[in-house]
Amino acid sequence: MHFAIINDNRVMAQPKLQGLCSCCSKPVIAKCGTRKIWHWAHKRKTDCDNWWEPETEWHRNWKNNYPADWQETSLLDEKTNEKHIADVRTTHNLVIEFQHSHIDPQERISREQFYKNMVWLVDGTRLKRDYPRFLKGKKNYFENTIFYKTDNPKIFQVDLLDWCFPSNWLESSVPVIFDFRGDGTMDDSEGLRITLYCIFPQVGRYARVVEISRTAFINATINGEWTSRVQKFINDYKEQDAFEQQKKQQQTTSHSSNKITYTWRGIPLIGGYREYKRRLWAQNKSTRNGRS
Ligand SMILES: [Zn+2]
Repeated sequence: MHFAIINDNRVMAQPKLQGLCSCCSKPVIAKCGTRKIWHWAHKRKTDCDNWWEPETEWHRNWKNNYPADWQETSLLDEKTNEKHIADVRTTHNLVIEFQHSHIDPQERISREQFYKNMVWLVDGTRLKRDYPRFLKGKKNYFENTIFYKTDNPKIFQVDLLDWCFPSNWLESSVPVIFDFRGDGTMDDSEGLRITLYCIFPQVGRYARVVEISRTAFINATINGEWTSRVQKFINDYKEQDAFEQQKKQQQTTSHSSNKITYTWRGIPLIGGYREYKRRLWAQNKSTRNGRS
């Protein structure tokens, strides 16, 4: 942890200090070595917040984009008496969780249910293949097969989302943002790591992925516009999906032609039968590999 309580103040770790955990109020000691970033740790392994993960530099840097008193806010569920420390909680009650480590889907769901109004910010450099996979998926945008362009150059309709992002994040009920920059030391000749990529909860046939700059994200979460803008965006694409669906139904009932249209998940394929066969093959292959 970054902060501990000493005489009712939130204090950062300094050599030889002792304080109290802001979540469970048990004693914590300052760990000020050279290997890890300075932090507070519990004296004994207690059943404090079992969601807590050791902080990385990446984690700490992200948290420091926000005022100190928004960081490490403990929150209590009064019904279950469960208590957890949110990485950041804004004055507009938005929780931002920075996630470097692997998280299993069940824990992800528990946290989403506990925090409700939240956004995940995920370190996209945890596994070596995460970024190349994303890049490959995004580059298909030029052939318009995975990342489909929309009227807005920063918004994409994405098919085969699991070809671009780690699968354990795809079912999330809240926005998930990927940061591929990591500690900033990786090669980024195309400048693609600078931008954040946000996946929105999928409602219709396409997933929506939006490019967002770091500054825009930080500003919108600080000034409180984030939640309403996300809600509006989701409502808009829900409407759009419903409209498209309706249009498609009308087309299939009112007009019959001799030409067979090959579709994938309801979308007519530009490549026709060949493209259909390719996707079917790829799907079968991934099922065989246990990727469903
Ligand atoms: Zn504690």
